[in-house]
Amino acid sequence: MEFYGDYHLHSTYSDGHSSVEEMVKAASGIGLEEICLADHGPRNFAVGVESAQTLLQIKEEIKALREKYTGLQIYAGVEANIISLDGQLDVEREIIEKLDLLIAGLHSYVWPEGFGDVPWILGNQVAKVFPLQKKWLQNANTKALVEAIYRYEPEIISHPGLKMEINIAEVAKACLAKETLWEINAGHKHPGYKEVREIARRGVEFVVNSDAHFPESVGALEYGAWVLEKAGVPAPQIRNIKEKEHGHENIIKIR
Ligand SMILES: [Zn+2]
Ligand SMILES: [Zn+2]
Repeated sequence: MEFYGDYHLHSTYSDGHSSVEEMVKAASGIGLEEICLADHGPRNFAVGVESAQTLLQIKEEIKALREKYTGLQIYAGVEANIISLDGQLDVEREIIEKLDLLIAGLHSYVWPEGFGDVPWILGNQVAKVFPLQKKWLQNANTKALVEAIYRYEPEIISHPGLKMEINIAEVAKACLAKETLWEINAGHKHPGYKEVREIARRGVEFVVNSDAHFPESVGALEYGAWVLEKAGVPAPQIRNIKEKEHGHENIIKIR
C-alpha cells in the first residue's frame, strides 16, 4: 500500500527542524504528489506559530515555492489547537478561510480559552499522575473534539486519542456527519490496529500522515500501510491511498 500525499508537516515556524522549502524539497525528491504544511496553532506552549498571521506568511512562501517545485501540489494549512470545551480553535475563522486545509487536534500543552477550561487542560497534563479523573477527562476530550468538528468542519482531525483519551464511537459519528478524515499518525504510530478496526467499522475514512518535523520523515507513512492492512480496512476508506481507482477524491474542502 502506498500513499500519494502527506498532509501534516511542520516547519521551523512551529517546532519543526527545517524550513518550509527543505520540507517541500524532500517531498518533491521522493515523488509525493501532494503535501500540506500544517504548523501548530499559536496557543501551543512554546512550540506554536508566533501568531495566526504567521500562517498567512507561510502561505505566501508556499505560493512562491509552487513555481519552483512544479509537479508537486503544495497546500498551506494549520494544525489548530482545540482550546475550549465547546470546541474553539486557536485560529480565527478569517484566517482559516484563507488557508487550504484545516487540521484540528487536541494537545494537552495549550493555553486554554477561558477560566472554565483550565481544569480540563490541566487535568490532561497530569492525567498519568491522577488516573481517577480518567473518565471525566475522556468525556471532556470527546466533547471538545466533537464540538470542534461541528463548528469548523476540518478536513482532518490529528492523532485522535493520542495522550488524550476519547470515545471513538462519539468522535466517529461527528466525522461521518461532517466528512472529516480520521488521521493515522505514522510518526506517532497511532492508533493501534484494534482502534483502526473499530473506527473503520463505523464507516469513517482515514488519511495517513507523517507529522514530520524533519525532511527525512516526509512521506514516512509505512506504519499507516501496516496498520490499515492488519486491521483489514478496505481501500475506498483510505483517502490518500495511491491506487488511482480508489483514491484521489480531493481532500481539500471548499470553504
Ligand atoms: Zn499534533
Ligand atoms: Zn503535528
